[in-house]
Amino acid sequence: MPLPIAGGMSGENTMNAADRLADVTARIATAARPAGRKPEDVTLIAISKTQDADAIAPLIAAGQRHFGENRVQEAQAKWPALRAQAPGIVLHLVGQLQSNKAEDAVALFDVIHSLDRPSLVTALGKAMAAQDRSLPCFVQVNIGAEEQKGGCAIADVPALLEQARAAHIPVAGLMCVPPADVEAAPYFALLAKMAREQGLSELSMGMSGDYETAVMLGATYVRVGTALFGARS
Ligand SMILES: *Cc1c(COP(=O)(O)O)cnc(C)c1O
Repeated sequence: MPLPIAGGMSGENTMNAADRLADVTARIATAARPAGRKPEDVTLIAISKTQDADAIAPLIAAGQRHFGENRVQEAQAKWPALRAQAPGIVLHLVGQLQSNKAEDAVALFDVIHSLDRPSLVTALGKAMAAQDRSLPCFVQVNIGAEEQKGGCAIADVPALLEQARAAHIPVAGLMCVPPADVEAAPYFALLAKMAREQGLSELSMGMSGDYETAVMLGATYVRVGTALFGARS
């Protein structure tokens, strides 16, 4: 069933899930090429938070395999059944994680994008060791130094990375959510520079409003919700 896109540009209202997936995938390729990047070096994560199984299933049927959720409990309720619909589904946690949910998160997810503080490194390290599961993680950086936002302060990133390595947590790269309503490009460029300096190859950045910019600036994972599913209710 087609869902309306927020702000509804003409035409997009009638696109179904497969059309939207094809559109976003094509836009990623278009943004990657002039930057000298290969489209296949960018992984599209469909952010399915608040979407029910009926909205997610058509994307799985259209071939999408990477999905992201921001709440452990919601994902626990939805994903065991959805995973059974196709092999190769990769589930990403993109929301703030409380330390007391680390065990559940490690059991359910495949990648964690919100590693942002020492207490969480400790909890995740313990949970991974206990379950003998090693999940690639992204250190989330509070790139705009916003008081209310999650993420590690820029100055604290090297120490957090060192602690994560000591805890045998495989850190794949850095993740950010730039400040809303301002140009995101300088923040993406800063995150890319930080990752280079730390010898990290993966960058999780870019959402529905700015994923093409993020791809031009080196994103290897983009996290797209609204542009694939329509507006969240
Ligand atoms: C919701 C969310 C997204 C997707 O946002 P859209 O604007 O709907 O694409 C991406 N990343 C994080 C961390 C989110 O919470």
